[in-house]
Amino acid sequence: MMKSEEAMAPVARYDAVVVGAGLAGLYTLHRLRQMGKNVMAFEAGGGVGGTWYWNRYPGCRVDAQCYNYQYWFSDEVLKEWDWSERFPSQPENEAYLNFVADKYDLKPQIHFNTRVTRGIYDEDAHTWRVYTDQGDVVDTPYFICCVGILSNAIEAPFPGRENFAGLVCHTSRWPHTPVDFTGKRVGVVGTGATGIQVVQTIAPLCEHLTVFQRTANYTVPMKNYRLDAAANVALKKRYPGIRQRSYASFSGFDFDFDNGAFYDHTPEERRAIYERLWKDGSFTFWLGSFFELFVDEKANAEISDFVREKIRARIKDPYTAELLLPRDYGFGTRRVPLDSGYFEAFNRPNVELVSVKTDPIECITETGLRLTSGREYEMDILVLATGFDAGTGAFAAIDIHGRGGRTLKAKWDEDIRTTLGLQVEGFPNLFTIGAPLAPSTALCNMYLCMTEQADWVLKAIEHLDSHGLHTMEPTAEMEDAWVKHHDAVANSTLVTKTDSWYMGCNVKGKPRRLLSYIGGSVPYRRKCDEIRASGYQGFIFS
Ligand code: NAP
Repeated sequence: MMKSEEAMAPVARYDAVVVGAGLAGLYTLHRLRQMGKNVMAFEAGGGVGGTWYWNRYPGCRVDAQCYNYQYWFSDEVLKEWDWSERFPSQPENEAYLNFVADKYDLKPQIHFNTRVTRGIYDEDAHTWRVYTDQGDVVDTPYFICCVGILSNAIEAPFPGRENFAGLVCHTSRWPHTPVDFTGKRVGVVGTGATGIQVVQTIAPLCEHLTVFQRTANYTVPMKNYRLDAAANVALKKRYPGIRQRSYASFSGFDFDFDNGAFYDHTPEERRAIYERLWKDGSFTFWLGSFFELFVDEKANAEISDFVREKIRARIKDPYTAELLLPRDYGFGTRRVPLDSGYFEAFNRPNVELVSVKTDPIECITETGLRLTSGREYEMDILVLATGFDAGTGAFAAIDIHGRGGRTLKAKWDEDIRTTLGLQVEGFPNLFTIGAPLAPSTALCNMYLCMTEQADWVLKAIEHLDSHGLHTMEPTAEMEDAWVKHHDAVANSTLVTKTDSWYMGCNVKGKPRRLLSYIGGSVPYRRKCDEIRASGYQGFIFS
C-alpha cells in the first residue's frame, strides 16, 4: 500500500493492538479481552502458533518436556489437553495452541495473513497509528509486539538463491505440503538445533545427503517416549508440583542446578552425576547439572570433555568424528540441542559431511552449492537451516517510530537496549514481549517467561487505566541501569565469550550483546515485581 493510499484509508480504533499470534500473543490477547479491552491482533501467518505455525520442516519437535512447555494459566486447559509424547512434534504443539485459541474464542479477534508494517507514535494524541500490508490503519493507545525471538529468518546467507533449479527452502518457511525426498540428492546448510533435526530425520529418506557444517555442535540424546491415557492421568496429578517447581527454578523448568557446588564433589562423583543426567535425555544435563558450567572454565572444560567423549563413541569414522566434535567453545555456551540419532546419521553410506569452516560457501548455483575453493556440490533440494536474526529482527522489521520520529531499528542498530525487555526508552506505550534483555529461549522456558512478561505489561496497563494516565515509558537512567545490570550478569558468564545467535554474532554488523537475560527467572521476576510495587519507579507517565 502506498503512503498516499494509507492516508485515505479509514482509521479503526482499538483499545490495544497485539502483533503476533504465537504463544505470547495468544496469551496477551486473551488476558486483554478478560480485562474488557477491545483488541485487534495481527498475525503474518495463516494460523495461530508463531514458531509452531512456521517451522514445519521434517523432524521439527520441541526440546522441552511437554509438561514444562505449556501454559500454566488455565486449569481447564491443563485438565483437558493430553500430550502424546514427552517431547511433542511440531503438529502437536501447533494443535495445542489452536486448542487454546479455540477454547478462548481468540481467532475472531485475529487478522491472519496480515503483516504489521509500521507503527507511528503520535505525541500529541498519545496514540500509536499502526499500518498493515493489507491496508489496515488502526489507532490504539497500546501497541504490544509479541513478534517472536526466532521468527525473522536468515533466508539468503549467500547469493544465488534465485538461480537454483530445484527446491530451496529455509526451514521456517517450509511448504505446507509434504516434500518427497525419495531418490533425491539433498543439501542441508546449518547444524544448529534445526539442522540437526532435519538431518537425523531425512537421512534415511534421501538418496544422498550432504551436510554443510560451519560450527560443530554439542547435543544431548533426547529420550522421548509415548504418553498414553494413564501416563497423562499420572502427569496431571504432578502438575501442581511441576508448576511450583518451575516458577522457583533458574530457567523456568521443573529442574534446577540441584547437585550442589561443582567443587564439593570428587571427579568420580561428578562423573556419576553426568551419567545420571545424560540418561534423562533432556535439558537437565545442561540446565540442571552445575551452574559452574556457565561461569567456570575448568568446570566447563570437564563437562565439555564428557560430552565430546559421548559424541565420539557414536561416530564410526574417526575423520568424520573429528569434524563433528566441537572444540572451539564450551558446552552450554550456545543453545544445546537434543538429538535423536543425529551423529549416527553420519555412519550411513548416503550421508556426507562437508566442513565449510575454512572453505566457506560462496554461492548457490543452478545445480547446487559452490564453495570458495571452487568445489561444487550438486543437489535437487537445498535446505537452509541457517537460523534467525534473533531477538531484535522481527521487531526491527516493523518500521516503528517513537518520540521525535526515532525508529526502533535505528536505536538497536546502534546498541541493543531495552528496559527489562519490556519497554524501550523513547517509545511510550510500546510494549515488547520476548524482546532483548529479558529471559528467553532455553535460558528460560518460553511459556513461563513469555506469560510472565505479558502479565507485567497487562498490570502496567491496568495501572495506567486506573490512574487516568495515558502513557508510560522508561527513563534513560532506568534503561541505562537495566542494560548495565544485564551486561554485568552476562559478562560474568562464558556465554558472552562464545560467538552465537545468543550474542547476535550470526548477523553481520549486529551490536554484540547477550540477547537473553541470564540472571535467572526468579531474580528477574523479583526485579519486575519490585518496580511495580514501587509505583513504577524509573518510568515516566503522562
Ligand atoms: P542456528 O542455531 O542459528 O543455526 C544456524 C546454522 O546455520 C548454524 O550451524 C550456522 O553456522 C549455520 N550457518 C548460517 N549461515 C551460514 C553460512 N553462511 N554458511 C554455513 N553455515 C551457516 O539456527 P537454528 O538451528 O534454526 O536454531 C535457532 C534456535 O531455534 C535454536 O537455538 C533454538 O533456540 C530454536 N530451535 C528450537 C528447537 C527445539 O526446541 N527443538 C528446534 C529448532 C530450533 P554457525 O554456527 O557457524 O553460525
